[in-house]
Amino acid sequence: MATTLFISDLHLDACRPATTRALATFLGRQRHCAQLFILGDLFEAWLGDDDDSPLVAEVAAMLREFTAAGPRLGIMVGNRDFLLGTGFCERAGARLLRDPTVIDLYGEPTLLMHGDSLCTADTDYQAFRRQVRDPEWQAQLLRQPLARRRDLAAELRARSRDANSMKRTDIMDVTAAEVERQMRRHGVGQLIHGHTHRPARHEAAAGLRWVLGAWEENGWFISASPEGVSLHSFPIIQ
Ligand code: MN
Repeated sequence: MATTLFISDLHLDACRPATTRALATFLGRQRHCAQLFILGDLFEAWLGDDDDSPLVAEVAAMLREFTAAGPRLGIMVGNRDFLLGTGFCERAGARLLRDPTVIDLYGEPTLLMHGDSLCTADTDYQAFRRQVRDPEWQAQLLRQPLARRRDLAAELRARSRDANSMKRTDIMDVTAAEVERQMRRHGVGQLIHGHTHRPARHEAAAGLRWVLGAWEENGWFISASPEGVSLHSFPIIQ
């Protein structure tokens, strides 16, 4: 069937097994789609493609089974799993997507992003993003032993939680001017992203902006076909 699906922000974590089960159910139901795009933050944290945790093995196997059945799979990293690389993608039968990526979605040029780069009002975060996206910085981190990276990840998460609780909520959303700028720059009339946990369909000046939701009480996905694009949610059984 000519259907393209998009999900993001599952924040998979060993301490929230219901979300992993919900992904397994989703993949089983959607195995006849043409392609699936995961637009960042599939995992709550990523220590490196050498992570030997049971969760990583389980999700890699699940995605491998899905792609072996036919659908193509593209994975973009988010601000949580920014270290995810080609090693994991190969195990999953996926290709690693750059952020941003432009695709032809049934004749409509569509920009795909995680969405964190659009939150330009959060200057602290943008400085942090530049640091962690630096290939040198990443290489240095990946040279540390896995156990040390596990400690660092826990530290970063605690710090991010503290910082976010202090910020005004409007800082955490995308900047309208940046959305316009990116859409015009890439010559698209449609944008699909996640990150902000504000699932919606917006009519921006440059075109349509679709926002995916985080998988918490509900799971979210966007479905596109030659007939159109739509946003869907379903309950996650805890
Ligand atoms: Mn994110």
